[in-house]
Amino acid sequence: KTKELKKIKNLPAETPDNYKVSIFANIDNPDEVKSVLNNGATGIGLYRTEFMFFNRSVLPNDKEHFENYKKVAEEMSPYATIIRTIDVGGDKLADAGLLNFDAEANPFMGLRAIRLCLKYPDIFIDQLKGILRASAFGKIRLMYPMISGLDELCEANKILEKVKEELRKEKVAFDENIEVGAMIEVPSAAGIMDVLAKELDFVSIGTNDLIQYTLAVDRVNENVANLYDPLHPAILRLIKRIIEEGHKAKIDVGMCGEMAGDPYYTPVLLGLGLDEFSVSSAQIPKIKKVIRSITITDAKKLAEDILANADRKFSSKLLDKVQSKLN
Ligand code: PEP
Ligand code: MG
Repeated sequence: KTKELKKIKNLPAETPDNYKVSIFANIDNPDEVKSVLNNGATGIGLYRTEFMFFNRSVLPNDKEHFENYKKVAEEMSPYATIIRTIDVGGDKLADAGLLNFDAEANPFMGLRAIRLCLKYPDIFIDQLKGILRASAFGKIRLMYPMISGLDELCEANKILEKVKEELRKEKVAFDENIEVGAMIEVPSAAGIMDVLAKELDFVSIGTNDLIQYTLAVDRVNENVANLYDPLHPAILRLIKRIIEEGHKAKIDVGMCGEMAGDPYYTPVLLGLGLDEFSVSSAQIPKIKKVIRSITITDAKKLAEDILANADRKFSSKLLDKVQSKLN
């Protein structure tokens, strides 16, 4: 079986009836690029940048950002790298002293990710400068985490434009056409997906948070882990809506939450029309194997049946059946 997966990893992510999707990788630091390429990813769908804020006493400057992103962009070239701006806060608390955090009663609903960046723009500006400068050395796309409304997106974009203007003045090279996307991981963002999509070049669904916030289930609390359910009909309806609205606006919809990396869910995500699966490197061959084994016709029918029933038990029954056929 390991041998079979090894062979599969460099084949295209294509169904037997010739429907193609992209399989990208998630990374938490620049050292992972080798394993990304070894496992047959054709891009990085989520480059988490929080590592630069952990275990240290001074904030990274734009040069440090630049170096970390340039390295990855060059190694991944000609494939694209989606760099996510910092998502510190929530379960990813930087050293308390570094960001002068007051303890919050509900960190997941607190000053996290884009909220923190907009409150302390200097941190954000240094990172954006680093990302833009690195975009001259490989294909980089920029992604904001935790967007919950249009104003936030516009405010972030305004800062981005200012940084671009500054670089132009300094005659520093960057990709003028850099694509800007957002994670859809807060239910309110899913609710206005049609509005956000008009302002974005792509989106990526963050199911880890989307499930947590939609079902009111803390993603790291074991007491309620049984309630954390990717197949909850409300989650599947949200995913369907995000994909449909994205496609109406002619932008690609990816997914970089853990749900994308679990082969059990691959058939239904494929059937819902997901364009890009971004998963940890080790999962890539398994996801590819499922995609290469099920027709898009069958996957669409499966997704329709599951959506039509809105019944959790029925959904897993159908998915169990598909899995038993695949193995
Ligand atoms: C997510 O929320 O699904 C996601 C990919 O982001 P993170 O796990 O880093 O919050
Ligand atoms: Mg998230």
